[in-house]
Amino acid sequence: MNALACPEWCTAAHGPITDHDMVMGSRDHSRTLLDIDRDGEDKATVLLYACQDLATGALDGVELAVFVKDDLTKAEACQLAAALLNGVDLLDQVGADR
Ligand SMILES: [Zn+2]
Repeated sequence: MNALACPEWCTAAHGPITDHDMVMGSRDHSRTLLDIDRDGEDKATVLLYACQDLATGALDGVELAVFVKDDLTKAEACQLAAALLNGVDLLDQVGADR
C-alpha cells in the first residue's frame, strides 16, 4: 500500500508506507524552507508541514513549523526572517486558511 499521493508542495523523500507508519496512523508531509546548521549544531529550522491520516487519506491544515534551538547571529536571524516571510507566502499559495 503506497497509493497516498503527496500534496504538491511536499518535497519530503518518503519511502513506501511501512508497518510502523500504519501503527502510527499518519504520515508527515513537509517542505524545508530553512535549515541552519552551524559547526554541526542545528540552530534553526523552518518548514511547511501537514499530517495525513493513512486510514482516510485526509490531510490536516498546512502549517509553518519553526524550531529555533539556540542564539542566532545577525545573518542567521536575517535568514530566519526571510524564511518566515517565504513560508507565509507559501501558506497563501497552498490555501492555508488560518
Ligand atoms: Zn509528502
